[in-house]
Amino acid sequence: MTAVAHRWTGLAVAPGAAVAPSWRADRPVPLDTGPIDPERVEQAFAAVAADLDRAADRVRAEGRQAAADIVAVGALIAADPDLLDAARQAATADPPLPAIGDAVEAYAVLLESLPDEMLRQRAADVRQVGRRVLERLAARGGGPAGKFVLVAEEVGPADLIELGGADLAGAVSVRGGANAHAAIVARSIGLPLVAGVDPDVLELPDGTPLLVDAEAGEVVADPPPADVARASAASERDRERRVRLAGERGLPHVTADGRPFTLFCNVASDVEVRLGLGNGAEGIGLVRTELPFTQADHWPTEAEHRRALAPILAEAGRRTVTVRLLDFAHDKVPPFLPPGASGLAELLGHPAALGAQLRAALDLGRDAELEIMVPMVTDPGQMRAVRAAAEVAAGELGTGPVPVGSMVETVAAVTGIDALCAAADFLSIGSNDLTAEALDLDRTDPRGRTELAAHPAVLALIGRVVEAAAKAGTPVTVCGDAGSHPITLPLLVGAGVRAVSVAVARVDETRWRLRRLDTGACRAVYREALESRTAEEVADLVSRRIEVVVP
Ligand code: PEP
Ligand code: MG
Repeated sequence: MTAVAHRWTGLAVAPGAAVAPSWRADRPVPLDTGPIDPERVEQAFAAVAADLDRAADRVRAEGRQAAADIVAVGALIAADPDLLDAARQAATADPPLPAIGDAVEAYAVLLESLPDEMLRQRAADVRQVGRRVLERLAARGGGPAGKFVLVAEEVGPADLIELGGADLAGAVSVRGGANAHAAIVARSIGLPLVAGVDPDVLELPDGTPLLVDAEAGEVVADPPPADVARASAASERDRERRVRLAGERGLPHVTADGRPFTLFCNVASDVEVRLGLGNGAEGIGLVRTELPFTQADHWPTEAEHRRALAPILAEAGRRTVTVRLLDFAHDKVPPFLPPGASGLAELLGHPAALGAQLRAALDLGRDAELEIMVPMVTDPGQMRAVRAAAEVAAGELGTGPVPVGSMVETVAAVTGIDALCAAADFLSIGSNDLTAEALDLDRTDPRGRTELAAHPAVLALIGRVVEAAAKAGTPVTVCGDAGSHPITLPLLVGAGVRAVSVAVARVDETRWRLRRLDTGACRAVYREALESRTAEEVADLVSRRIEVVVP
C-alpha cells in the first residue's frame, strides 16, 4: 500500500531541499511505563555510552579534536558506577522512570554543589546523559539513526549546532521566521529550513519519509516519487553551482577595479569555523557566543564559556577571531533574564559574568588574533567599561592587550558615532538589528528581510558610520546579513565598505560577487539610492544598474 502524502506550506527561511526520515527533537518523554528491570537500566546506560563513544570517534576522525573530547566526557559519565547505581536502585520504584529521572537530577545537583568549577560543569553532561537514558527506556530509540530531518515546535539554534553534521539533512519548525537565529545558523551551515509549518507536522511518527523543499516553501510527508525527483534535481543543480563558486577560492580578494577587500565569516560553532575557513574566509568576523546559552537558567560560568569557545578557537588556529560578548537581546533573551531585557546592560551590571567570559576568551585565544566585540552598544561609556574589564582579565591571566571593538547596530550608536570611533578599536555594522530598529520591525517579524537594509534610511545610517570611521582611522566591517545579499552588497561597497563577515555558506558567492563589482559604479548607485524612497525602489535600481552573473 502506498502512503498518502501530507503536504504543508511554510516560510522558506534557509534554502535547499532534502528528503530523509523525520525525527522530532522535542517529543515529550512518556514517563508512565510499567516496571523496568534494573538490568535494562544498565543496558540503557551502556548503549548511551557506546553512542557517545561512536559520536566522539566520528568527530575526531573529522579532525575536530576539542569537540570530540567534549562528547567523550559524556561517554565517561554514562559509565560512572555511582550514577548507574543510583539509577538502578530508583528502577525499583513505582513508576520507575520519574524515579530514575530524580536520581539523575540528584546526582547532577550534587556535582553542582562541589567547589571545583570543572566538576560543577559536569552537571549539564549528567542531565544530558540522563535524558538520553530515559528516552531509551521509554523506547524513544535514543535519537535518530542515519540521515534525518529535524522536526520541532521551535527549532533552536543550539539544536542545529549540536546535531549539525553529516546526518542532519534539513529541518522543519512550527515557529520562527527568517530573522530568528535558528534561520541564521541554518543558512550558515547550508541546511534547508522551513518554518511556520502547521503544528500537525509534530504528530508524524519518527522515521516518516519527509521532503523539505525550502525553494517551494513546502514540507511533504511520504512524498510521491515525482516530488522526490524534483527536489533531488534541485539539490543537484545547487551542488553544481556550489562547485563552480568554490572554483574561485584562493584567487585574490580584489574588486573588479583592483580594490582589496576582506572576507571573513560568522560562526557559532567549530563546525562553521572549519567550513568557513575551508571556503577561504580569511578569519572569523563574528562569533555569536550567546547562541549555546539562549535557554540557560543562569549566567554562563567561566567553565561553560570555555567549553563553548575551546573547539571554536582550536579550529581557528592563528586566524583573526572576533569574539562577541553575550548578546542576550530580542529573540535571544534567556529565561533567567526578564523578557525584553537589554542584554548588554545586564552583562555590564554583572561584572562577574562579564569577567568570566573575558577570561575564557583571553585565555583560550592566546594563539589566535583575538578581538573582543561588544553587541548592541548605545553609548561609548559601555565600551570603556568593557575595555577596563578586559584589562583586568588580561592582567589576571598575564596575556597582552586585545583590540576591543563595537558593533554598530543601534540608531543611538550611529547618532554618537564620532565618540564611538574614539572609544573603539574597530567597528562592525550589524545590519540585521540596525535595519530592524531603523524601520521599526521586530527581529522575529515575518516581514523582516535582509534586503530591507537597502532602504534609503538604513543606507544613510550606514554611510554615516563608514564616513566617520574613515575620518577617525577606525577599521569598519559589516557582519550583518546585508554583507552577502546580492542587492545590498553593491550598496555597501558604494558606501565605502571594504570588509564583510558573512554566513559560512555565503563565503564563496560573496567572493564571486565582490570580484566582479566595480567600486565606482557601486558608488554611483549608492548615491542615487539615497535619493530613493523605498527599499523596493532601491532594489530595482540595483538590479537594473549592477549586473553580476553568478552560476
Ligand atoms: C546584526 O544585528 O546584524 C548582527 C550581526 O547580530 P545578530 O544577527 O547576531 O543579532
Ligand atoms: Mg545584532
